[in-house]
Amino acid sequence: MSSLRVLPLGPPGAGKGTQSRRIAEAYDINHISTGDMLRANKDMETDHGTPGEYMDAGELVPDPVMKAVVEEALSDLDGYVLDGYPRTLEQAEHLESVTDLDAIIYLTVDREELIRRLSGRRVDPETGQNYHVEFDMPDDPAVRERLVQRTDDEPDRVETRLEEYATKTRPVIEHYTDHEAFVEIDGNQSPDEVWEDIDAVLRDVGE
Ligand code: AMP
Repeated sequence: MSSLRVLPLGPPGAGKGTQSRRIAEAYDINHISTGDMLRANKDMETDHGTPGEYMDAGELVPDPVMKAVVEEALSDLDGYVLDGYPRTLEQAEHLESVTDLDAIIYLTVDREELIRRLSGRRVDPETGQNYHVEFDMPDDPAVRERLVQRTDDEPDRVETRLEEYATKTRPVIEHYTDHEAFVEIDGNQSPDEVWEDIDAVLRDVGE
């Protein structure tokens, strides 16, 4: 297990989840995904209602809930890739108070491409594996049959998520641009090409 701390940033649909899984595997670090953690705890009662109420609407879960979730997840961890946090300036300040970062990787993707990726995404409810109706369908007909669309990938929710990103998360990117560990990578490329760019950056950081 390495002690590398990696923060992927970018809009919904940029490929943070896909790339985070590869980073975690290649660099032997933990993959912390706030989206996955929240999906597993959608009905958890908090002072602000349940996470599911916000997620199904495509809105951000309130900061106090997120801070508690992330603080708990990061406690006692050595290396990690933190996928999905921070999404507000308040969360960014919180993260800075609890940890340092070795690499901040900002994936840029055009708006039409984001919409195409999110609206075509399908999930296998049994394995959690993501597919895409246009360019990545499973070979197994049984798996094809059981694929579902995430509620928040439906068109009006996609619109809301991109708006939430533009108003609340864009300032987080601005906040990190001057950080010495910040790098920007073209996320419009294929997953393998994006991975090559990320791997080159992280190999450098590790040296
Ligand atoms: P994701 O799987 O990363 O797209 O996250 C799915 C949903 O979980 C988001 O649309 C939000 O509703 C919620 N969520 C995940 N991470 C955060 C966060 N850092 N702050 C607020 N809400 C979050």
